Amino acid sequence: MEESQDCDVLVIGGGPAGSTMSTLLARKGRRVVMLEKDHHPRFHIGESLLPGNVELFEKLGVREEVDRIGMPKHGIEFVSPDLDYRSYVDFSEGWDPEKGSAWQVRRSDLDEVLFRHAAREGAVTLEGARVRQVDFDDGGATVQATLDDGSRRSWRARFVVDASGRDTVLANKFKSKQKNPDHNSTALFGHFRGAERLEGRREGNVSIFWFQHGWFWFIPLSDGTTSIGAVCWSYYLKARDKPLKDYFFDTIALCPQLQARLAGAELVDDAVHATGNFSYASTHATGDRYLMVGDAYTFVDPMFSTGVFLAMQNAFDGAELVQTALERPAALPAARKALEARMRNVPRDYTWFIYRVTNPTIRDMFMHPNNVFKAKQGLVSLLGADLDPSAPYRLSLFGFKVLYYFVSIMNWRRTLAGWKRRRFNIRDMGPLQGETVLKAD
Ligand SMILES: Cc1cc2nc3c(=O)[nH]c(=O)nc-3n(C[C@H](O)[C@H](O)[C@H](O)COP(=O)(O)OP(=O)(O)OC[C@H]3O[C@@H](n4cnc5c(N)ncnc54)[C@H](O)[C@@H]3O)c2cc1C
Repeated sequence: MEESQDCDVLVIGGGPAGSTMSTLLARKGRRVVMLEKDHHPRFHIGESLLPGNVELFEKLGVREEVDRIGMPKHGIEFVSPDLDYRSYVDFSEGWDPEKGSAWQVRRSDLDEVLFRHAAREGAVTLEGARVRQVDFDDGGATVQATLDDGSRRSWRARFVVDASGRDTVLANKFKSKQKNPDHNSTALFGHFRGAERLEGRREGNVSIFWFQHGWFWFIPLSDGTTSIGAVCWSYYLKARDKPLKDYFFDTIALCPQLQARLAGAELVDDAVHATGNFSYASTHATGDRYLMVGDAYTFVDPMFSTGVFLAMQNAFDGAELVQTALERPAALPAARKALEARMRNVPRDYTWFIYRVTNPTIRDMFMHPNNVFKAKQGLVSLLGADLDPSAPYRLSLFGFKVLYYFVSIMNWRRTLAGWKRRRFNIRDMGPLQGETVLKAD
């Protein structure tokens, strides 16, 4: 092993969280090293972005580049199995009509843009470098990585940022990763050529189709392909009794409205992927010499396409914490406490909806959006990740919840049945494990 090299901050992982963090810290003059086990461009799921991302891209200075690779997305289509009409929300119906659009992207393209940008901004970036070990001591940390050719290298860093996504390098080290007891879903997904899209301005919108075992996403990409995924309860994927591709097509057949949109379409590269056990959180995100951001800290569910936004927002907030740790250690305890609270509270706005979204009351409210108490406006802002802390926004979300509880009580039998079904659906179907990506067999 070579002698170790020094840096201020070592970032593990070159996804959206790691690249954002590296750019921001390098801009502040920090010596940043970012290690990525893969090589960009590499496949990743998570293709639908939110209006809240736009401002973050703008601040990073990559908005034009993202615009070039992205498919414009202005809103969401909701399709319910028992209704013959569709509901549409447009992001411009939220509190800030200016935050009216985002993009659908191939993550291989987006993540490469962000990673190369971090290098241009001054971070030292290395691909094909898998972090194997992190040892903390009074002066910082020693980080060891294995390179593609099997050789090993090590770095001395004053601070370590874990942005390793679902590999959760530090949460594994500290055994602080916990399965989410309130959620448990899995996903099957693939890309199709020739899917029937919405027309005109809605062409790039994401569509959500509910079905009996969960829901589907329909994400149109700029190269003409469409990403299709089924997010289903764990029991459903566990019950698979045939090759993955056949099971995926059988699953699509359970949703006739989606099947009709794929009637003339073909699966790209014959590839179907499956992934499970993705709902977890670390008990904490910060330490005196480290920080976990993005999926390395927590992930709940892809329902509202919040993953990339939250990962990047964590990096923006976290970069301030890293600066505090390096410059003003006396202020670190207070900064850690504030960041821990923020990183727990923002996802909570979403989890309230995620935990209820397959319940008939919420489904009705999405299918018949009503603006009593400005509830729709609040919901649309949340869906667009325009997380304005102002009172009118918070009140409109509160209004949505009041309506929800009112309708739930009025239909208490249905509510009780939905609650029981959900408890059954989220039951533990096996040990927590990392991502399983299976090729169509
Ligand atoms: C089924 C599904 C659908 C989703 N759909 C969406 C969506 O539509 N929109 C959305 O915004 N989000 C979506 N997400 C979530 C989104 O994919 C993630 O939240 C997002 O990628 C998190 O970014 P990140 O930078 O934290 O982690 P990642 O993007 O996972 O990046 C982590 C990086 O770290 C690298 N790495 C890991 N371990 C090591 C190591 N030991 N050493 C060096 N490098 C390492 C990895 O190779 C990777 O490049 C979805 C998630 C799932 C499971």
